[in-house]
Amino acid sequence: MAATMRKLICQVATNNFRLFPLYASSCKHHRLILRKRYKENEFLSSISFNNSGYDNCRRVLSTATERSNRRCWKCNSSTDEEKELYFCRCGVVQSVPSDLTYFKALNVPENFDIDTTSLSQYYKDLQKELHPDKYTQKSKEEQELAAGQSSFINKAYEALLKPLTRGFYLLELRGVPLEEVEEAVNPAFLMEIMETNEDIIDVASNPPVLQQIQEANNAKMDDCVQVVAEAFRNGDFALAKNTLIKLKYFTNIDGKIKGIQRNNMDST
Ligand SMILES: [Zn+2]
Repeated sequence: MAATMRKLICQVATNNFRLFPLYASSCKHHRLILRKRYKENEFLSSISFNNSGYDNCRRVLSTATERSNRRCWKCNSSTDEEKELYFCRCGVVQSVPSDLTYFKALNVPENFDIDTTSLSQYYKDLQKELHPDKYTQKSKEEQELAAGQSSFINKAYEALLKPLTRGFYLLELRGVPLEEVEEAVNPAFLMEIMETNEDIIDVASNPPVLQQIQEANNAKMDDCVQVVAEAFRNGDFALAKNTLIKLKYFTNIDGKIKGIQRNNMDST
C-alpha cells in the first residue's frame, strides 16, 4: 500500500515537475523519465541549488551539463545531441553517451507501439555507416568508437524489435522493478503452461497437430501484445508487467515448437 501511494506521489510530482521539481528529481524511479521528458536546460533552470541536501538534483545537473556541453573529441566543436549523436559534422564518429536509451539510439519514440519497419530501416542504415570496412583506413580510436556504437546499436535493435523485450525494457525505463517476477504468475496459468509443454512432447511426431498447438499459442501471444500495448497507453504498468510475464511463457513454448519442427525437418 505504501509503495502504491509512493508511486502515485511520484507520478503526480513527475507530471507536475514545475511544482515539485525537487521531489521528482530526487526520486530514483522518475529521474530517468524526467530527464527524457523535458529538455535538460528547461528542467535545470527550474531547480535551485542552495541546499546541500539536493545531491540528486546536482547529479541530474551534472549529467545534463555533460550532455549539453557535448563536444567532438576530434575537432572540439559542440555537437548537437540529436543530429550529431553518432557523427560530428566534421565526419568523425562520436562515443555513446552514457545515458542514451535504446529508443533514442534508434530514433523511435519511447513507446511500446513502434513502427518496426522504420526501426529496421534506421538500424540497417546506421550499421552501414558504422561497418568496420569503412574504418580500415581510420585511426585506432575511430575504429574502436565505431565498434562501440555498432555493438550498442545491435543491443538496442535486439531489445526493441520484439514486443517481449521491448516491453520489459520500457518497464525498466519507467522504473518498474522486474524482480519477484515468479510471484505474479497464478497457479492455474502455470498449470496451463505445463499441460501445453506436455502436449508438445506428446505430439512431436505429428506435425499437423503440433501446428495446431502453435497456431493457438500464436493467438495467445498476439492477445498478450494487444493487452500490453493498451496497458502502456493507459500507464497501467502492473498489467503490462503481468502480461509480459505471460507472454514470456508463450514465447518459450513457441521456441520449443520451432525446435521440434527444425528437428523434424532435419530428420526427413
Ligand atoms: Zn568534429
